[in-house]
Amino acid sequence: MKTARSIRGMTDILPEEVGCYQLVESVFRDILHRYGYDEIRLPMVEYAELFKRSIGSETDIVEKEMYTFLDRSDELLCLRPEGTAGCVRAVVQNGLINQGSIKKLWYMGPMFRYERPQRGRQRQFNQMGVEVFGEESTEVELEILLLCDRIWRNLNIEDLVQLEINTIGDLDSRKSYVTSLTSYLQKYSDDLDDDSKRRLSTNPLRILDSKDDKTQKILSNAPNFTDFVDHKSRGHFEKLCNSLEGLGIPYNVNPALVRGLDYYNRTVFEWTTKELGAQGTICGGGRYDGLVEKFSNKSSAAVGCAFGIERLVMLTRSLSSQENQLSSVADIYIIAVGEEARMMAIRCAENIRSEIPSWRVLQNLGAGSIKSQLKRANKSDSKIAIIIGPEEVASKCVTLKFLRDDLEQESVVESQLISRLKDI
Ligand code: ATP
Ligand code: MG
Repeated sequence: MKTARSIRGMTDILPEEVGCYQLVESVFRDILHRYGYDEIRLPMVEYAELFKRSIGSETDIVEKEMYTFLDRSDELLCLRPEGTAGCVRAVVQNGLINQGSIKKLWYMGPMFRYERPQRGRQRQFNQMGVEVFGEESTEVELEILLLCDRIWRNLNIEDLVQLEINTIGDLDSRKSYVTSLTSYLQKYSDDLDDDSKRRLSTNPLRILDSKDDKTQKILSNAPNFTDFVDHKSRGHFEKLCNSLEGLGIPYNVNPALVRGLDYYNRTVFEWTTKELGAQGTICGGGRYDGLVEKFSNKSSAAVGCAFGIERLVMLTRSLSSQENQLSSVADIYIIAVGEEARMMAIRCAENIRSEIPSWRVLQNLGAGSIKSQLKRANKSDSKIAIIIGPEEVASKCVTLKFLRDDLEQESVVESQLISRLKDI
């Protein structure tokens, strides 16, 4: 096979883009560490059943988006479409949840969903996520929202994002809302779009997400989820909103926000931006107190959220100042002509890498005249070229040429090189 072509929706992240990914990822890692979260690394392949039981079999992800396959022993497996289910499986399987203690975890890595690829939507994409187990109070939601806010500020995108938040109550609230919504929609079932007609019997809540104008018009007079939320969940939500206000985190209560996954209860939230068109959600999450119980004889309160790395990268790249800061420039480019000079050049390069570890040192690879090597040095955007030819070998000196400043070139004794460079 000679076709060099990747799978649709699964793209390469090229060297010139990687800097921005590294920036986003390192800000995330650093902040999560500072808030006391530990990393967990999870398999990319799980039993398909895990996602059916946790996300819900009537959801978009499980119905349409999963990469499911039989392995050689006829086990039904799938590429993970998200991180929460695997994380819950892992904490249960490894006994990481203990009554009375709190577990705070983060993960990062590729996820797979068979969706229509477009800007900000791929079939293989990357998520970072956090999950907190073992605490019922709003302090967990608050901590997660605060650390999100800190991530935005560290990436300088705080003015480009908004927090949307809602409460969907407990399981009973959802059930009674679904009953009421269904009986309302049944009256108009002939006018609903085809998908919504089908969902009326499978998962009526998902009709709320319909993009069809006629369906949306019908929905505008439908019963309101908020009216069905139980008393305790309402109190929980009010407390969270008050704390957000007290801490100066702006938010918008969005009663239409229910999120597409079955496992949520009470708080759901999304951070969105207007800068990325239709794919404007950069982080989504909420509380899922009932999920652990589905896989264990213990129960545990839980809250989590996941960030779309590609969308965050697009957002940070839209700020040109960060682009410049990230361009990969080198500090030193070492040029050598002749066999002995090459050995001396390697010695110098290794010496600088040991003594000045923060510098990026490029060694010219392959032969070539000084002129052609200098051309490469200029192209690399290095600050300084170190030139070593037969004369330098004979005098045990190297020549420093400043590529970005208008300075005279200098000759430096090899043994003095490091101290001279440290002065620059
Ligand atoms: P959307 O409404 O955009 O489909 P979602 O609700 O399916 O998002 P989640 O399951 O909450 O997304 O995933 C968390 C985050 O992961 C999203 O907010 C988004 O930033 C990112 N994400 C989800 N699906 C994709 C995808 N196919 N390509 C790139 N990023 C994605
Ligand atoms: Mg989706």
